[in-house]
Amino acid sequence: MNHPASVLVVTYAEIALKRKNRPVFQLRLLNNMRRALAGEPIAGINHVESRYLVWLDDPGRAEICAQKLERVFGIRWLSPAVSIPKSAVGPQLAAVQAVAVDLARRDVGDARTFKVETRRSDRGFPFDSQQINRLVGDAVGAVLGLPAKMTRPDFTVNVLVLRERLLVFTAKRAGASGLPSGTGGRVCCLLSGGIDSPVAAWLLMRRGCRPTLIHFYSGRTYREADAGKIVDLARVLAGWSPVPLTLWLVPVVPYEARALDHVSDAYDMLMFRRFMVKAAATIAHRENCLALVTGDSLGQVASQTLHNLAAIAPDVGLPIFRPLIGMDKEQTTVISKQIGAFPVSIRPYRDCCSIRSPRPVLNARPDVLCELSAAMDLPGAVRDSLAAAARLVVGPGGILKEIDRAGPVAPGA
Ligand code: ATP
Ligand code: MG
Repeated sequence: MNHPASVLVVTYAEIALKRKNRPVFQLRLLNNMRRALAGEPIAGINHVESRYLVWLDDPGRAEICAQKLERVFGIRWLSPAVSIPKSAVGPQLAAVQAVAVDLARRDVGDARTFKVETRRSDRGFPFDSQQINRLVGDAVGAVLGLPAKMTRPDFTVNVLVLRERLLVFTAKRAGASGLPSGTGGRVCCLLSGGIDSPVAAWLLMRRGCRPTLIHFYSGRTYREADAGKIVDLARVLAGWSPVPLTLWLVPVVPYEARALDHVSDAYDMLMFRRFMVKAAATIAHRENCLALVTGDSLGQVASQTLHNLAAIAPDVGLPIFRPLIGMDKEQTTVISKQIGAFPVSIRPYRDCCSIRSPRPVLNARPDVLCELSAAMDLPGAVRDSLAAAARLVVGPGGILKEIDRAGPVAPGA
């Protein structure tokens, strides 16, 4: 290849719609890109005419850098490109034609039609978009022997005319879109071992939120509970975050010990969910999180009827976001696969919900759940569970730090 990509063109997503706050979002995005590319040979990142240009010292790393940026929220699309300084374009755009032909030869594959698409942010450039399309298109068409097709071509060569340079690129790769991480505040995400909850957490991350992850396990210690799968899900989510994530592992024994004498089978599942939400809300206050996030989907299982969702935590004092509420399993599974969680989510795991009584009441009343909470001392269960909880700091590569709060939790705790 005569013209290796020396720059990545990065276009941002919704930030473009912001007015007064735009600089705040741009700065976050810039920092997050820098973190994603840490260790890569980057010569610099400039903001040029409503987009970022990431300059590469080693064009051989263009593909790897592009893959890393695909995980940065706030980017609509990105593309490895060849930069041609204005002074070098030549009469009749000879240099642009040469680069376009070169890239087209490399990337055309088995396409049977093509087009050249030009965008000019420099309106003073002596050639207009149509002229550039024609000059570059003629050169590419002659070499490839393919006809140009304006609507839905198989293959597109893009030319971007900026004030100081022209950029030529073929593949436009979709970014993760959304808003830059760190612009949306903190949330506590209830993470089970299933398919839904990692997707729910990811959707809030894509809105710019920093998640604290919380998992409830049965057993005396989380090591005994075999929480490796949960750590792996946290690793998947950390791969989408510029900073490592905190994962709380909370034992449920203190709930079970108290529920035994006070909660019938019909109410066990709902009281258990109430316990999880109450404990999560306590963690949220400690960690400055402003909302809880769960993977509930309306009607998916008996505990997720509208009545039950409404009854579980009328008194929690924080918004509970349920981003999957209107989705079916198929839609959730598509996202789970896209984000890389699916292969982990389908690994076998004995979630503590799976050992609860499977036939809860369908129309629980909030006042009944509140009465049961008082009878079984739910606040005591929350207190003892959190006293025995462990905290892990997890990055994409694994556990970075492990903070055990206490030893094994005693059943009567
Ligand atoms: P699945 O894909 O099996 O449905 P799920 O994550 O949706 O997995 P559900 O049993 O449907 O699991 O639970 C609904 C929600 O309750 C979950 O999305 C999650 O937010 C929360 N939840 C369930 N079990 C746990 C747990 N052990 N720890 C933390 N949160 C949990
Ligand atoms: Mg579910």
